[in-house]
Amino acid sequence: MSSGGDEIETLIATMARLPGLGPRSARRVVLHLIRKRAGQMAQLASLMANVAENARECLVCGNITQSDICPICEDPSRASGEICVVTDVADLWALERGRAFRGRYHVLGGSLSALDEIGPDDLRITQLMQRLADGTVQEVILATNPNLEGEATATYLSRLIVPMGVTVSRLASGLPVGGDLEYADEVTLGRAFEGRRVVHG
Ligand code: ZN
Repeated sequence: MSSGGDEIETLIATMARLPGLGPRSARRVVLHLIRKRAGQMAQLASLMANVAENARECLVCGNITQSDICPICEDPSRASGEICVVTDVADLWALERGRAFRGRYHVLGGSLSALDEIGPDDLRITQLMQRLADGTVQEVILATNPNLEGEATATYLSRLIVPMGVTVSRLASGLPVGGDLEYADEVTLGRAFEGRRVVHG
């Protein structure tokens, strides 16, 4: 016999480490895939290989995409005068699912945190300032997480951006405090957007 059995166990163990899956779900998924190996498994394997090869950060906003510029940044129907600043790509995707916002995004890639030694230079803040430089953007909506680091990041950014004459707003409360934006439901995200409030310096 080959070492095929070992690889199946390795596949299950690897899948079990994925977010949202545990050992039991991983075993169920792998068994399902093996039974559907001609269709779903082959397709999944080829998709994964392609995405592993081609996924990269959008040069403009930091979204994960397969080309240099992501479809949102390329879409002429989206308002170029509004930028929604998010902590992570997962937040961008959550907001897109909710369809609450029709402008552009900017992914910071994290939050300011003294504890984790994450400073302004570790985030995509310079790139954000560059996008604001030509005066096209009239409003920046800060959709950082409703926790300590998210608030600190929002405060830091508003102090940089308000003096540039750009309107800065913050998503309304109602989001689960201390939680991640990505876990908020679509209705809550929509309300948070509609009720956003302007930040003054
Ligand atoms: Zn983009």
